[in-house]
Amino acid sequence: MIDQLVYDFDEHCDGGRELLGGKGLGLAEMTTLGLPVPAGFTVTTEACRRYRAHRGPLPTELHAEIARHLGELEKRTGKRFGDPLNPLLLSVRSGGPVSMPGMMETILNLGLSDAAIKQAPLHDVRFLLDAYRRLIQMYGEVVAGIEPGCFAHELERVEQLHDTPLTIDALFELVDGYRDLYAAATGDGFPQDPREQLFNAVAAVFDSWNAPRAQIYRAQYGISDAAGTAANVMQMVFGNRDAHSATGVCFSRDPATGEPGLYGEFLVRAQGEDIVSGAQTPEPLARMRQVLPAAYDELEQAVAQLETHYRDLQDVEFTVESGRLHILQTRAAKRTATAALRVAVDMRAEGLLTRADAIERVDPAQLEQLLHPTIDPKTKLVVVATGLSASPGAAAGLAVFDADTAVARSADGESVLLVRPETTADDIHGLLCASGVLTARGGMTSHAAVVARGLGKPCVAGCAALDIDIDARTARIGETVIREGDPLTIDGATGRVILGLAPLVEPEPDANLATILDWADDVRRLRVYANADTPLDALRARANGAEGIGLCRTEHMFMAADRLPIVREMILASSDAERAAALAQLLPMQQSDFEGIFAAMTGLPVTIRLLDPPLHEFLPDPSEVEDEAVRERIEALRETNPMLGTRGCRLGLERPEIYEMQIRAIVRAAHAVEQRSGVAPIVEIMHPLVAFMSELERLVELTARTVAEEGGLDYRVGTMIELPRAALRAGELAAHAEFFSFGTNDLTQTTLGVSRDDAQGRFLTFYLQHGLLADDPFQTIDVDGVGELIRIAVERGRAVRPSIEIGLCGEHGGDPASIAFCESIGLDYVSCSPFRIPVARLAAAQAVLSAGARYVPAGG
Ligand code: ADP
Ligand code: MG
Ligand code: MG
Repeated sequence: MIDQLVYDFDEHCDGGRELLGGKGLGLAEMTTLGLPVPAGFTVTTEACRRYRAHRGPLPTELHAEIARHLGELEKRTGKRFGDPLNPLLLSVRSGGPVSMPGMMETILNLGLSDAAIKQAPLHDVRFLLDAYRRLIQMYGEVVAGIEPGCFAHELERVEQLHDTPLTIDALFELVDGYRDLYAAATGDGFPQDPREQLFNAVAAVFDSWNAPRAQIYRAQYGISDAAGTAANVMQMVFGNRDAHSATGVCFSRDPATGEPGLYGEFLVRAQGEDIVSGAQTPEPLARMRQVLPAAYDELEQAVAQLETHYRDLQDVEFTVESGRLHILQTRAAKRTATAALRVAVDMRAEGLLTRADAIERVDPAQLEQLLHPTIDPKTKLVVVATGLSASPGAAAGLAVFDADTAVARSADGESVLLVRPETTADDIHGLLCASGVLTARGGMTSHAAVVARGLGKPCVAGCAALDIDIDARTARIGETVIREGDPLTIDGATGRVILGLAPLVEPEPDANLATILDWADDVRRLRVYANADTPLDALRARANGAEGIGLCRTEHMFMAADRLPIVREMILASSDAERAAALAQLLPMQQSDFEGIFAAMTGLPVTIRLLDPPLHEFLPDPSEVEDEAVRERIEALRETNPMLGTRGCRLGLERPEIYEMQIRAIVRAAHAVEQRSGVAPIVEIMHPLVAFMSELERLVELTARTVAEEGGLDYRVGTMIELPRAALRAGELAAHAEFFSFGTNDLTQTTLGVSRDDAQGRFLTFYLQHGLLADDPFQTIDVDGVGELIRIAVERGRAVRPSIEIGLCGEHGGDPASIAFCESIGLDYVSCSPFRIPVARLAAAQAVLSAGARYVPAGG
């Protein structure tokens, strides 16, 4: 057949998981391995795509093809679909190319009817009734769209009238009740023709691909909407048949810790969904060894065989019917970061994986979890709300509702949590001094989330239950009122908001993490630098393996509580003399910051970027200023579009005394550190927002002159590339710059013509939800646009100065997909937040290993 849409589990098929879905492929492979899988066939994702495309009922050719495979199945099993005396019963199970656990539908026990119950042999009546009521419920909910609550309600009613477990009479009553419910809701009796049941079930499983929760899940994990799901039709096995029957889920090793040995749960006299639904409490798998010893041994062997075959931690569904084991599903298990590392290292030691395999088995994005403080698990918590887990780690502190209060209270030595409806660039000073951020609005890439991740601070964003009244200085969550200064804790790993100050614990160092990162360091080519603005950040970055600082943002030093008033004086000075006096006060402060950072980074390069943001970010809200002259000066500095205004080197050129002060501070700090330690710091001075060669030429000259005035220093000078014009004119710039650093945040904003803060939560979110964009360009580099500019700049820059050092800093520097891009175009380094260093080290190694084929986990 040219256009085959249905494959038996033991039939050869080249389509892989794309065509069969993960579950279907797993069933086919397990069948080939000789494992006890009930017989069946897979209706492909292609059939689903066609069905969805023509928006009608299931095509008749597909009916015919399914009927043919059904005939085969009847022969194989010696049972007949719809035969009341010897019924073949079937399940129809969803399963797309990428695993989406629990997001789509499955219907069990298809093929039962009133006649089959009536004519069932006496010893089967009980469990067939149990199976029938489950069928009516699942079919009713999934195919006929009946409210789930209806059936649960009826079950409760019958259970209250009778003892549980229900007697045969009670089960008859329940089935009658279910049938009435079905008829009342649909105006039609429950379908007695098994083929009608089957075809409708396949169509409903196909439809469940587009269930709202499945769409949300795909959007969250970047899974394509186009793929569609397969429908797996297989013979039922009955974990609810008798006392020697059971159903369960097991893992080849513990998915929380990675500890070797079977781990899982099972339930006697039950069908699969009883475990997942939580209706009954399952028993630990170890008990199964006593209750069903033969099946347990067989399971242990089967799972070991699967783990060896897939060379990965497996998550296996099984059912035991009258003592006989059946395997129903296998897939790569979801696991914690701790388990992922341990499994990779152990499997390497066991000879199952090579080092390269082990490196590829760990998801870099997960590693960040391991580096942040967490809430002491021994504490009882009062969780009052849950938002998005926007930046990992836990933080406890006093609630404050604006950035200035955050600065003031933290200057008193208090730990504060900044609580805002959402944050903007004007809140940056508050974000810098807060221990964590909580917002009512905004998503994973809102301003608060992005800045918090960059700073390595915990953030819970989009906590919709939070009703903040800034004027009243309160946040309400239902009945609970949080006032300014009240103690509060957020858990950025889970999104929980907790009343009071929960005790935090530092993470334990993980030996397996060190091992995997060691292996990764041997493989990777890209160097990994950190974005670090303080000596503390620098030390943390170094401890996490940073090989330098790729971005030290000096404006962050201007925001500290003891500096801000002087910075404001400097900006608002009414004469040159006043300005000079303020700068003279700032110079020793900057110098001491640089000394701390240089001392922390002995022997490694430190790239210092001169002042970048627009001045008004440092200024108070004019409406809150008493002095009229000062207010007027603030108003005069106001810009319509500050992102594109007097900032970066434009300010540095217009007011050279600011950059001169910063350069003096750098040189003096370098001299002091060298004198103390005997080791000269490796200093790189970087100019922001350069567009024209003339700008850079003059900045390089200003830098050289100021350094010379301070007695000279061995340093390098370079530029950010963060404007399209700079990328295009990289050849000219390279004549003056010894290094380039791509500031991909601004480069993305200016290339796309998109203001990040205005896009997120608004049209950008719409674009992502409606498939206009596959990825958020502020998280993962827009390879085709921004990436093209980067490629051009690298080529033109290297053509003029082959030795030029080229790196990338910004949020993208810690994003695995963007790191893969940096590897592919031969950058020298990436620079990211200190907490993301391990992520970047691992991702850089994976980028080398997988230039092409990526590892795809098994299962459905
Ligand atoms: P999900 O992808 O949500 O896990 P599944 O298709 O795996 O959905 O099915 C849901 C439950 O039904 C599972 O617990 C599975 O073990 C059970 N199940 C599916 N098919 C059969 C079958 N042929 N016999 C017995 N139980 C089955
Ligand atoms: Mg399953
Ligand atoms: Mg920038």
